[in-house]
Amino acid sequence: MIKFLDLEKINNRFRDEINSRIAKILDKGWYLQGEENEIFTKNFAKYCDTKHCIGVANGLDALNLIIKAMGFGVGDEIIVPSNTYIASILAITQNGCTPVLVEPDINTYNINPNLIEEKITPKTKAIMVVHLYGQAVQMEKIWQLAKKYNLKVIEDSAQAHGAIYNNLKTGNLSDASGFSFYPGKNLGCLGDGGAITTNDDELAKKIKAIANYGSDRKYHHIYKGVNSRLDEIQAAILDIKLKYLDEDNNRRREISKYYRENIKNEKIILPRTYDENSHVWHVFAVRTQKRDEFQQYLSDNQIQTIIHYPTPPHKQLAYSEWNNLSYPISEEIHNTIISLPISPVMTDYEIEKIVEVANEYI
Ligand SMILES: *Cc1c(COP(=O)(O)O)cnc(C)c1O
Repeated sequence: MIKFLDLEKINNRFRDEINSRIAKILDKGWYLQGEENEIFTKNFAKYCDTKHCIGVANGLDALNLIIKAMGFGVGDEIIVPSNTYIASILAITQNGCTPVLVEPDINTYNINPNLIEEKITPKTKAIMVVHLYGQAVQMEKIWQLAKKYNLKVIEDSAQAHGAIYNNLKTGNLSDASGFSFYPGKNLGCLGDGGAITTNDDELAKKIKAIANYGSDRKYHHIYKGVNSRLDEIQAAILDIKLKYLDEDNNRRREISKYYRENIKNEKIILPRTYDENSHVWHVFAVRTQKRDEFQQYLSDNQIQTIIHYPTPPHKQLAYSEWNNLSYPISEEIHNTIISLPISPVMTDYEIEKIVEVANEYI
């Protein structure tokens, strides 16, 4: 079976480095808010070319904390794409804000910038973009709207570590960006982890305090904070893996290019990108009319696939108030999408086999 994502193989490449770095943490006996966190967040800020990076417990917390620190709550509206992982939307509703869903572009799967303005009301406070599947959103129009209506821009960069728009990395395309280091992401730790990047000094200070029990110094609480920290072991592992992120992303680009050049089957719609640097191929999603049949066919041929995602947020039971709404482009994507294996540790043989099997599908 060709695995969808061989995490064991991905992380075993760093076994020795990880072991020795964890041994150092054991020797030191310091597990939270220490040197490893400082080193990694400094290096990740440098990688994204932002002034600040704050380590937090996971990607959902990162987004949640950004909205909280911006001071948005009940009565405030935040624009967000209608096809995204549920976390983007949960971060908004957890703060009491109202998500205003905007349909994606069928070619990029990202929010359609041309459909945003009609959704802006006097209550709109921010636009949250999601760099879905690893492709950076084309930001120009969004920046213009934010300026025109005095809105904040937030990035959900959970799937797009290292993607580039206009010579700027994701994480550096907005007022603040949330990252996830969930194991399966392009930069993933061995457990949960997340981070926020921003160039805003005040916001960074506030997020740092809120994430640490609302405390700017020990036992001194200026906000009703939360506990959301990136622990030392995960920070150390991420710091090791960060050095290989560009190399890994380039291998993903190579695989994606091979798929896009060699899968030739009129039943399969291949993903497109407007610029090779803009995409880090967290997911290689194709579309096909009889998706479930295609998935079964691939499985019969020893190829494991995943659906990102089978049900759009507005059709989830958790958001039953939206279940009768219609977002036809999102629904079309959710009904036809399927992700082929893509990862930096795949062999040429595996990639060739996938192309061959996909081309033989009738
Ligand atoms: C993974 C992901 C998140 C959430 O990250 P966690 O670390 O699992 O909390 C948020 N948004 C998107 C688009 C994601 O893919």
